Amino acid sequence: MISVKLEGTDFGARNITIDTGGNRIVAPSRALISTETHYVEKIINSGRVATAVFPPYPHEIYEVVRAENRKKNQFQVSELSNPKVFERKLVGLKQDLRFQKNALKLFHYQKMSPFFEMTRENNILLAKFQADAELKVIKVWDERVNTSPKYFETQIDQFRNKLDEVGLEIMPVLETANPDVDNYEAKWKLLHDMGINKVGTTAESILQNWKNYSIIQKFVEDKDIWVHASGVPRRWASNHTTSEMHILQRFGINTFALEVFRPFLREGAVSVYDRNPKDQKLYDQNTCGGLGLKEGVSLYHGELNCDHVCCNGKTRAEFYTDYAKLELLPVYANVHEAFNSFEEMQMGAKRILDHDFKDYVKEKHYLNEAMNNLDKRFS
Ligand SMILES: [Zn+2]
Repeated sequence: MISVKLEGTDFGARNITIDTGGNRIVAPSRALISTETHYVEKIINSGRVATAVFPPYPHEIYEVVRAENRKKNQFQVSELSNPKVFERKLVGLKQDLRFQKNALKLFHYQKMSPFFEMTRENNILLAKFQADAELKVIKVWDERVNTSPKYFETQIDQFRNKLDEVGLEIMPVLETANPDVDNYEAKWKLLHDMGINKVGTTAESILQNWKNYSIIQKFVEDKDIWVHASGVPRRWASNHTTSEMHILQRFGINTFALEVFRPFLREGAVSVYDRNPKDQKLYDQNTCGGLGLKEGVSLYHGELNCDHVCCNGKTRAEFYTDYAKLELLPVYANVHEAFNSFEEMQMGAKRILDHDFKDYVKEKHYLNEAMNNLDKRFS
């Protein structure tokens, strides 16, 4: 049984430990997603970095993501009802699960919109899909944001009993984009009353769903509950600069897995591989933001200030030109971010225990700016 313990709270952020029986994970923590393991494969396959010198990702939570994709027909949950398709997709899932050996592993089904229905049949198919891939924590989705709390309770209870019988644990998933705030709050309360200590959520717009985020913050403030956010945008949509996972800590959310590319939902979104090197931003620990080359150079005199294997010995300009030449600039930038934001979050986790998180935020220019903007707007 995975146990969760609240170790400290400060300025809305919560430090928890997740005890898996073998590992003790300290959160807030940045999770790794399957796309990010593919980036490293891409780099290694390019022959520019030997496997031996590429350090393993340090992340302790690993999420394999499959995005609903109706246009390209890549992953549609209803197709899993065909045993042949189920088997084929399961092989793919298991392949992605080979990475991050010691991590606590999760699966995420990234819906095109929080309002697309997850039918009972599809929830069952996905639960079987996760269980057959030997995951220990199984996500079960609220079928629609407007299911009644009573219906939701019965649904979660039935799934939990079934999973209990085979020694698996449930992580119910609540969409943050629920327009019925009372309904949303009632569901959190229900989950807690049912003794559930792991809740999945989706990182829908903070501005549009402020009330629901505030509900999470208030509700989990003093509870031994692990809140895991999936589908976190790499950058906050309001300024395209601040790393959004750092903002979400403020609402008591503990672990963060990035979204995979959603071209149909983000207007003007460009796949990482098609991005102009000029528009590439590099994650910066000091500000918790993404800096363009010009800004980075003016702030740090061209230094990269990063000693991980992709960056070591390079100036900022060299990072851009060397990796753009290999046509791998966005890949390297994302790998850099995965390492550095993980490290940064672990430092922030300590500051929560020191009751120093508010000062921590103040030190991080872009994070501080984003928090202040939100406070001004909603207080
Ligand atoms: Zn780096």
